[in-house]
Amino acid sequence: YSGKTGSQLLGEHFRKLMVRDYKSVPAVCQEETSVYDAICTMFLEDVGTLFVVKEGGILTGVISRKDLLKSSMGSQDLQNIPVGVVMSRMPNIVSCHLDESLLDAAAKLIRNQVDSLPVVKEREESDHFEVVGRISKTTITRVFVEMGLGKSV
Ligand code: ADP
Repeated sequence: YSGKTGSQLLGEHFRKLMVRDYKSVPAVCQEETSVYDAICTMFLEDVGTLFVVKEGGILTGVISRKDLLKSSMGSQDLQNIPVGVVMSRMPNIVSCHLDESLLDAAAKLIRNQVDSLPVVKEREESDHFEVVGRISKTTITRVFVEMGLGKSV
């Protein structure tokens, strides 16, 4: 008998879960994408956040539901507002890595009060990060439910 408490064992188990094993497919758009098209993409891909990328899938920003709502207020033509003017921009994007624990990613979601994190891979060209996945509050909730029920949902 190890003498560890239930929560210590649970914590150890949690720390072993890795971002690479739980990430989902990222939904992306470009800075030139219109606010109108970004809203359509959110509905079609059934996500609440789009990652904004340039050539090679390099992360340039993040656009959330509320960013799009904000830019939709007033009478502007949504087909003519590019996502680039309303998105949150690098280097102010909180992201995570494939080899990071899911627990650390979850802590970033809470501490930064955001709904999702891009999973990124560092490129040779130093400050370039390629988007390879997504961790969202749904990802974390699913793991929580699966651990509780002992089966995949
Ligand atoms: P919403 O705004 O729809 O509630 P979020 O809480 O995820 O969705 O986003 C809050 C703000 O933080 C938005 O302005 C969004 O652009 C920004 N944001 C979202 N995700 C990230 C992230 N991973 N890193 C930095 N900023 C983010």
